[in-house]
Amino acid sequence: MKKVCLFLLALCLLAGCRGEPPEETPAEPVVCVPSEECFLCTGTWERNNVGIISLNTFEMAEVEVNRYDAAGELIEERAGNITMWWTQSGEDGFHVFVTEDPDRGRTSLTIEPGSDQWADRHKAAEFLCADCMENILPEGGKRKLGFGVIDLATGEIKLFERRLLGFSVGDFYVHCDWEEQGPDLRALIFYSPLRY
Ligand SMILES: [Zn+2]
Repeated sequence: MKKVCLFLLALCLLAGCRGEPPEETPAEPVVCVPSEECFLCTGTWERNNVGIISLNTFEMAEVEVNRYDAAGELIEERAGNITMWWTQSGEDGFHVFVTEDPDRGRTSLTIEPGSDQWADRHKAAEFLCADCMENILPEGGKRKLGFGVIDLATGEIKLFERRLLGFSVGDFYVHCDWEEQGPDLRALIFYSPLRY
């Protein structure tokens, strides 16, 4: 009987691993950096592009739909080509595979979250002030995914959520196509500013 109970317990534990994200476990209090050291409050990117960003390491992969020269001036001419590249955040963070078509203002991406699948507020606190933390990763509730999109014109961050099939951030629209049985995401990003 004991063996059957252990077997059932093991099955329950396995089932629990697959479903909803776990509740965040209450642990030591999160200590944020002051706003003078905050990644977002001190950020000055000033480019009308978005980047894929890790909420654990704040490493970022810029998607270059609008091209800028070394002096920071917008290049207003055709690129004439499509660019493919990939990068990884940190040692085991998200992988992103990118195909950029700047002349059409669109980019397709495949993101494999790696260790950035879930956000860790303790790690984020090394980069965010208390106000920015409250905006992006408020305390309590279900854990949030650990990667999102940053608008490099304003510093606004929107986290990916599996229930969202698309959202706007700044002048861009992000369409999301989630892997059914896994954590990966295929996304399309369109440059889509207000017309009038
Ligand atoms: Zn801040």
